[in-house]
Amino acid sequence: MNGHAIEAHGLVKDFGGFRAVDGIDLAVPAGSIFGVLGPNGAGKTTTLRMLLGIIDPDAGHRTLLGEARPLKVARQVGYLPEERGLYPGMQAREAIAFMGALRGLPLKEGRARADQMLEAHGLGAARRKPIRTLSKGMAQTVQLLGTLVHRPRLIVLDEPFSGLDALNQERLEAVIRAQAADGVTILFSTHVIAHAERLCQRVAIIAGGRVRFEGGVEEARARLKPEVRLATRA
Ligand code: ATP
Repeated sequence: MNGHAIEAHGLVKDFGGFRAVDGIDLAVPAGSIFGVLGPNGAGKTTTLRMLLGIIDPDAGHRTLLGEARPLKVARQVGYLPEERGLYPGMQAREAIAFMGALRGLPLKEGRARADQMLEAHGLGAARRKPIRTLSKGMAQTVQLLGTLVHRPRLIVLDEPFSGLDALNQERLEAVIRAQAADGVTILFSTHVIAHAERLCQRVAIIAGGRVRFEGGVEEARARLKPEVRLATRA
């Protein structure tokens, strides 16, 4: 790896006759917190899915942790998709262990780590509670912890803050900061620039399937036109 956890060049994706992603270049420095900003429909989710190898680009190429075939590094990657979803009848600790098992972590180890993580994030009492009995914010935190339980080197979070109240947003920010302090690379998408400002070193602003800006978060804010800023408020 050459200092970048993710590199993408000229990614393109068409859906029928519609070009959702129109030639995206990205370089995410290893160990950084990187924000992909843009309004709804900008092409963020489609870009993330191409980076992770969930869908193939129609043109362009990318590397994930230095590897051109994303599946080869799947066990070193964590992904929180835009669609949330945990089995409602599963206990919180089982849900986390189950997600770890999907990335190769033995269930027993997953349960032990789940207990530690829930405790560390103030959710110790929820360990054996079924998901359906948790608040939305708690369930989302459980899903995030399941994304991290196998100790990935890179995590990709699609709109992780959406639908969360302030308390749960803070909890999620704390989880992200703790991961970054451990050297994990984090890429997350958001349409709210304030989230990027609090967490990111670098951002890319995507609109209409293209990168309109990539650079430091201060410069990004200065460049955003007032009308875009309004549209990207919480
Ligand atoms: P949002 O936050 O609303 O999900 P986004 O920036 O993540 O926005 P995408 O989900 O990547 O945007 O969608 C980009 C465009 O591609 C949108 O116009 C969307 O309707 C379209 N699109 C995405 N997936 C498909 C699909 N499977 N088939 C057809 N069109 C799609």
